[in-house]
Amino acid sequence: MATPNQTPLDHAFFGHPRGLSTLFFTEMWERFSYYGMRALLLLYMTAPLSAGGLGFDAAQGGAIYGLYTSMVYMMALPGGWVADRLIGQRRAVLYGGIFIASGHFSMAIPSLATFYLGLFLIVIGTGLLKGNVSVIVGQLYTPEDTRRDAGYSIFYMGINLGAFIAPLICGYLGQEVSWHLGFGAAGVGMALGVVQYVLGGASLGTAGLEPAPAASPAAFTALKASATRWTVGLVVALAALAAGMYTGVLPITALQIANAGGLLLLLITLGFFAWLFVSGGWTPEEKKRLYVIGVLFVASTLFWSVFEQAGSTLNLFADRSTDNRAFGSAFPSTWYQSLNSLFLIALAPVFAWVWARLATKGQDPSRPAKFAMGLVFVGLGFAILVGPARSAESGALVSPMWLTLTYLLHTIGELALSPVGLSAMSTLAPARIAGLIMGVWFLSISVGNFLGGRIASFYESMALPSLFGVVATFAIIAGLILFAFVPAMRRLTDEPTPAVRS
Ligand code: GLN
Repeated sequence: MATPNQTPLDHAFFGHPRGLSTLFFTEMWERFSYYGMRALLLLYMTAPLSAGGLGFDAAQGGAIYGLYTSMVYMMALPGGWVADRLIGQRRAVLYGGIFIASGHFSMAIPSLATFYLGLFLIVIGTGLLKGNVSVIVGQLYTPEDTRRDAGYSIFYMGINLGAFIAPLICGYLGQEVSWHLGFGAAGVGMALGVVQYVLGGASLGTAGLEPAPAASPAAFTALKASATRWTVGLVVALAALAAGMYTGVLPITALQIANAGGLLLLLITLGFFAWLFVSGGWTPEEKKRLYVIGVLFVASTLFWSVFEQAGSTLNLFADRSTDNRAFGSAFPSTWYQSLNSLFLIALAPVFAWVWARLATKGQDPSRPAKFAMGLVFVGLGFAILVGPARSAESGALVSPMWLTLTYLLHTIGELALSPVGLSAMSTLAPARIAGLIMGVWFLSISVGNFLGGRIASFYESMALPSLFGVVATFAIIAGLILFAFVPAMRRLTDEPTPAVRS
């Protein structure tokens, strides 16, 4: 990690270093582009050709959506590695932003080839940008600076500000004017973010400018050469695959690729945990903590698999079965996608206050309890939709109030689980693998996103009340089981009651 270079007196941005403003707006625009496009993605794929869509069924659309959203998070792992070892976070964010903007512009061109190329570029770009921009945030502060956590909270607001505005603009343009204009607007947002990032670069000083020093200049050159070889090899292989599919020489479908991607994700996850437990050398204390990490990984994966259906099943439900009118005027169905961020911005201070108050009395819930709470709430969000889904089955359009309530419950779940997730993982991780644990968190989000897309694959083949009911039941039961295990998990980590604080 580069040495923090900020003067401790820099309070230029809401009492925080000026550089935070640059990173805030970079991530705001990146999320604007991500969520703006994502709001349209499945709707575009499943819209009939006559409506300018791709005419896929929900099974295929859901599978591609799942693969895309999971890969976006998965690529944070190699993206982090490239920044740490080869180019530094600062350049990684810049290149990432350029890739992302190019990806959206590619999708603004109406053809299947530019659609897939766009998704690919966004996956690579987000892998380079998202994790690394968060790392630079931490580097703005000296190790003693107590403002760091608050800095991350402000940064999280930037994420949600972008995510809030995105569906309103890109969703509107995409659904009401043309899909491709919506994708283009996402690209314009990311381009603005890149310009802002370059102009604000000076405020970041030397944070994230250089990669971690290699053992020797020769070792660095060798590493760079082998990374270049791998990159070129992979690009050539992928280009050959794409060309083979495009020309029909290779009889492979997008659905098969999505399935292979899922299998790969499963193998990576199993391989990682097998390595973790089998590699040995852990003290009994560390081993116990690894079990807790394993449990939290499963809980986190389940949580995101339900939560991230915002862009998949819930998006389809909004589009097909909800009466999208408020105060007498109609609005685009993608606008529901803004509710999560809106609620988050409104409720985050309330939650912070509640946890802090409970903490002063020693009554704030332990981290596993907060994870359990997250699961129950995200499940409840689906449980309340079972009734409306039944009415929708008979052809009725249900009140917008239902999805609004779902997103409120989902946001409460997110506020319970998400902020403690990474800190729980990192405090439980044995020091030797501390760096890897950031990867575990992203992996759980990645697998969660994959599943969230795959669930949408059943949208047309399963009765909607059953689909929503199954999702709700799984999440709620998993949450209740986790609640039951809270005391045991506390013992495993040897924390006294009420233990493991966030
Ligand atoms: N909405 C947040 C973001 O986009 C968290 C979502 C996630 O990490 N899965 O960063």
